[in-house]
Amino acid sequence: MLGLDPRSIILMSGVMSLLMAGMLAVMRRGYPQSVKGMSAWALSFVIAFVATLLIGSYDRIPHLLTTVLGNCTMLYSATLSLYGSQRFYGQLTQHRYWALVVLGCGMVFAWFTFMQPSYLVRIQVFSLVMIGIQASHAVLLYRCRTQNRFAVIAAGVIGVQVVILVIRVITLAVNHAAQGVFDPSPMQVVHIAAYGFMALLLTVSLVLMASERMRAEFEHVATHDHLTGALSRGAFIQECEQELERCQRHGRVMTLVMMDLDHFKQINDTHGHLVGDRVLIDFVQQVSDQLRKPDRIGRFGGEEFVLVLPETPHDEAIQVAERIRHSIATNGSDPSYTVSIGLATTRLELESVDQLVARADAALYRAKAAGRNRIDAG
Ligand code: GH3
Ligand code: MG
Ligand code: MG
Repeated sequence: MLGLDPRSIILMSGVMSLLMAGMLAVMRRGYPQSVKGMSAWALSFVIAFVATLLIGSYDRIPHLLTTVLGNCTMLYSATLSLYGSQRFYGQLTQHRYWALVVLGCGMVFAWFTFMQPSYLVRIQVFSLVMIGIQASHAVLLYRCRTQNRFAVIAAGVIGVQVVILVIRVITLAVNHAAQGVFDPSPMQVVHIAAYGFMALLLTVSLVLMASERMRAEFEHVATHDHLTGALSRGAFIQECEQELERCQRHGRVMTLVMMDLDHFKQINDTHGHLVGDRVLIDFVQQVSDQLRKPDRIGRFGGEEFVLVLPETPHDEAIQVAERIRHSIATNGSDPSYTVSIGLATTRLELESVDQLVARADAALYRAKAAGRNRIDAG
């Protein structure tokens, strides 16, 4: 049927797995340590290669190595791939649990090889457990699709494998026609051939996922302040320009808030630079806790921070600023510190971001001059 020899396809799939493992391992070296899971993915393909060697040697080496160890190794390779994805997404790994399941399968395979030989039972048990592992993997990747747009491709690839396995289980349950691992039936040939293609597609999608993660990390580094996690000045201005344009287009208002910690030099001088850094981190955390989703905080430099409050009229922005000022002055942090705030809300006449910043800055200057720990609403 189809003129394809299952043994050759199994071995070709194995070689494909080994090549994919090599590719993942080489790529892994170029990725930062923060991208986790790639080594486990690579190892899973190496183990799949070993499994295909064992299974492909059926009838040439002892059954214990082919039927029992070969199938267990194949299942274990799938659990390692799942483990890689759990590590990639920083999730709790269930590797021990799956390793125990695979061990249990080994005993079942051994029983149905030596005590009560049945290829049909072995293949059904293998397929059902593989469905469990692969379905968990596909679900995990699908759930994380918003974090990484390529995860959905990997989920799709594994999902196709699950569908093929399900069809195989049903077909075998209905006609009981399994003849053996080298059974040249279309289902068996499709199942084995699909495995090789899927290894290739899965590797490509995993590499895309890792690249996307790296791109997102670099983008974060480029657009955020390293110490506090607030937006960097450039990124903030860019967001502000986009927001201002939206406001002008839709006739809405927005408010820019400029904040500067009071006598911060004294905090550094008295407690040291590290404590000063901690105060900056604490400040951004406290302010962020008070913001709504569309609000953005940026670090303009030193101990000077800015907020953009979209669709926030003047009076409402004063309330937000007062809440921030009050919570900073009364939060009981050690050392205690205060903040001065200047506001500027968009007007009817068109203004650039620079002009809005200049108005908020002038208001901040007045708040400082009036004694600090206060707000000037422009
Ligand atoms: P004012 O109330 O007028 O704002 O006084 P100030 O002391 O806060 O203002 P000044 O501009 O004199 O001092 C700002 C200080 O902030 C000086 C600088 O060493 C410190 N600074 C800037 N960046 C950092 C930083 O990343 N970490 C720490 N710890 N200090 C910083
Ligand atoms: Mg200051
Ligand atoms: Mg300052």
